[in-house]
Amino acid sequence: MNEYKTKEQKLRFYKSKEWKYIRLEALKRDNYECQGCKRNGLVYTEHHDSGKHKRLDVDHIKEIYTHPELALELDNLETLCIKCHNKKHNRFMFRKKKNKWDDEKW
Ligand SMILES: [Zn+2]
Repeated sequence: MNEYKTKEQKLRFYKSKEWKYIRLEALKRDNYECQGCKRNGLVYTEHHDSGKHKRLDVDHIKEIYTHPELALELDNLETLCIKCHNKKHNRFMFRKKKNKWDDEKW
């Protein structure tokens, strides 16, 4: 079974034609709409006529790190915009400034 524990293994996976194929299938299934925004009653979509969807990611609901067997399962994939994707993984574009004087107010 494949494992995706190192950065290299993940990179190889995301470059594979199997991933590119299933990723496209997920985008098509989700109508190129962010499923995270959809859950919040919003629609986030964008034109995809040239095959470029820079702001939409296909996310693994269960991480391939822990569930490598689900890496290519359509049911384990969902379309997310960058914003929702970052939110899910708790990645922030900015870092909270550390101000020790204000600690008590948090
Ligand atoms: Zn979204």
